[in-house]
Amino acid sequence: MIVIRIGQLAEQLGVHRNTIRNWISSGRLPARSVSGKRYLLNESDFTRICHEFGIDRSTLKLKHVPGAPLMSRAMGLMEQNVRRIGSPSRKLLADPSWGEVCMTCGSCASACPISGVDGLDPRKIVRMAVLGLEEDLLASQWPWKCTMCAKCERACPQNVEIVSLIGRIRGLRDRAKVPGPLHKGVLMCLERGNNLGIPKGDFVALIEEMSSEMVDEGFKGFEPPIDRMGSNLLVTVNSKEPFAEPDDMKHWWKIFHAAGESWTFPSEGWEGVNWAFFTGDEDSLRMSVGRIVQNMYKLKCKTLLLPD
Ligand code: SF4
Ligand code: SF4
Repeated sequence: MIVIRIGQLAEQLGVHRNTIRNWISSGRLPARSVSGKRYLLNESDFTRICHEFGIDRSTLKLKHVPGAPLMSRAMGLMEQNVRRIGSPSRKLLADPSWGEVCMTCGSCASACPISGVDGLDPRKIVRMAVLGLEEDLLASQWPWKCTMCAKCERACPQNVEIVSLIGRIRGLRDRAKVPGPLHKGVLMCLERGNNLGIPKGDFVALIEEMSSEMVDEGFKGFEPPIDRMGSNLLVTVNSKEPFAEPDDMKHWWKIFHAAGESWTFPSEGWEGVNWAFFTGDEDSLRMSVGRIVQNMYKLKCKTLLLPD
């Protein structure tokens, strides 16, 4: 087994470090997080990834990671002798490695900007999940106070996947008990393409009306930026802007016009704020993202602009 750092491997393969993270979380690159923001992986998996990239593994210059041989040996022994905490069928285990490596250091709680608000403490959330207090976590308001900023996760020396744990807790709550209008917005987005249910005709009419105002205001040749094939930018928008503050959009329209940017809204599926992310509803999240991707293909746009 070998020990890698994500940044180091990303640099060698010429991909973004998030790509390596995604491979690990999707299982494409089976790896186990170990202390010090490092990952342990099989030599054969590493060689396979190198092969996929047409890279001779022996030519890769991986920097020496102190303690790697010892860590590999220790992790190998752990693999043989590990005693898992709780039942393997538990719902909240986002990744088999996360809970076991928490050492209750509290770095996550120190980094959390809302630690202490109504008793929230990411360390407590992790400990409760490790101890199997799932019903208490599902009923708790803590996961819903969390802003999903991931500062706790970045501070964790053990790579505990705190944000995905919190997302999973949210996703397991009965949809009727999701706080506020979030779940209704998710359903509305699936049905009508945006969180506030603005009909396609109203959105298109608003954009056309505002475009003619732009011309009146001196922006000659400003055309309604709707479904313009081959634009450079596909722009999504937070539905509260067309709903409540449409004139705010004109500020950046003017900048784009002055810069000669080629851009467009899609007439449908233009919502840029995915509330399913906040409710832990992964299926709906994927569907909304999929629509945006389809719009990119359909309108042959090169770059996606998200407002949030
Ligand atoms: S920072 Fe990580 S290891 Fe430390 S208490 Fe939080 S989850 Fe556990
Ligand atoms: S993701 Fe949530 S728990 Fe973690 S630091 Fe941000 S607000 Fe705190």
